[in-house]
Amino acid sequence: MPGAVVLGMGSRAYVALGANLGDPPAQLRRALQELGATPGVTLVAVSHFYRTAPLGPPGQPDYCNAVCALDTGLTPEQLLDVLQRIEHAAGRQRGERWGPRLLDLDLLHVEGQTIRTPRLTLPHPELQRRAFVLVPLAEIAPAVEIPGQGRVGTLAAAVDQSGVAPWT
Ligand code: ATP
Ligand code: CA
Ligand code: CA
Repeated sequence: MPGAVVLGMGSRAYVALGANLGDPPAQLRRALQELGATPGVTLVAVSHFYRTAPLGPPGQPDYCNAVCALDTGLTPEQLLDVLQRIEHAAGRQRGERWGPRLLDLDLLHVEGQTIRTPRLTLPHPELQRRAFVLVPLAEIAPAVEIPGQGRVGTLAAAVDQSGVAPWT
């Protein structure tokens, strides 16, 4: 049976990638490959990879974080399905909130979309407080306006970036 036909370029969306178990940069590279290979998704930009201090329970390894931009004809909910499938395929277990993980994919922002359902909040409410998201996002999309939060470049300049370094 044929699947849905995707017409046009769709919307620009921004996704945050993070991992702090296993081989973090390898997991990010694999997730980017899988995202780019998803029908209806075109990867348009990827930030550098960063080493960042973990949030949440103490004693966790550092995170590897990055952000990518993509164009998609999928709805935000369909895109979240794709992200959760990729997390699952990477062996992600649902554990304690903000606990260590093999892969975390958060939908940060989808152009023109403001959503608040039990399953999906857009823009991501913590975006403006997180240097580990804002630094890579500002690298690829400094001029983008996040509804209700502000311009990415301005938000990035306002947070403490001391916990964010190049991965190397
Ligand atoms: P945080 O969202 O604060 O970064 P987290 O990434 O650790 O926390 P998860 O355990 O990965 O949280 O996800 C919890 C739930 O968040 C998911 O099941 C998903 O339905 C929901 N969710 C709501 N908004 C978003 C979003 N914008 N991107 C990804 N997941 C979201
Ligand atoms: Ca997250
Ligand atoms: Ca998440």
